[in-house]
Amino acid sequence: MCWRGKAQKAAKRMQVLDTIPFNLDAAEVIRQVHLSAAGEEIVAQVRELVAVAQEVARPKAIYEVCYIENKQDGAVDVGGVTFTSRVLRANLDAVERIFVYVATCGVELNQISTPSDDILLRYCLDVIKEQALAAALRHLRQHLKNKYALGKTAGMNPGSLEDWPITEQRNLFAIFGDVEQLIGVKLTESCLMIPNKSVSGITFPTEVSFASCQLCPREICSNRSAPYDPELAREYGITT
Ligand code: SF4
Repeated sequence: MCWRGKAQKAAKRMQVLDTIPFNLDAAEVIRQVHLSAAGEEIVAQVRELVAVAQEVARPKAIYEVCYIENKQDGAVDVGGVTFTSRVLRANLDAVERIFVYVATCGVELNQISTPSDDILLRYCLDVIKEQALAAALRHLRQHLKNKYALGKTAGMNPGSLEDWPITEQRNLFAIFGDVEQLIGVKLTESCLMIPNKSVSGITFPTEVSFASCQLCPREICSNRSAPYDPELAREYGITT
């Protein structure tokens, strides 16, 4: 197939979701930042911030349907790149099609400026950005479920385990080309994403429940979704 045909085929499998519904609830933000008993002036400032954020917020996501091209020992070739991870390789053992994605709160929220010394307002803006990212992820999941009739799925994100380090973000971003131009997410040299409330990863069909947290021994983490399972970590070959 010529380069034009390949580019057209890739473009068909890539989709930008940029009209994601997002409704901010000022009372919920106030509750989340524990301001219910705060003075009227502070509450009014937060309400004003919420109103500005609601006006500009445009959470977004991009995804591409990718087919596994080759399975190696501890690596998989997919979307023209090689992901190196024993866990990912094992999880994709019986999988042929995966969904690679980047989701973000959107550059618009990132451009809102708050006084640098106002820690409270900066924290509120962070909470708002997290809500926008959550809306983007929810929308993406539902979109994939509806469009591809997906049953049970699981996911992995570069950087969540030592076995699949954050530097693998470069490969993931390479699948899409210019992610900054497509949905405004920039990858720094140290592989962090800007806006910071962005997530990249893959979703794959599975019969077995899986969460990276099961293989992560970190003791203190407010985002833990499953207990650490040392036996499972041994089965995946990432501990002895
Ligand atoms: S426990 Fe925390 S750091 Fe470890 S994989 Fe889960 S969310 Fe990430």
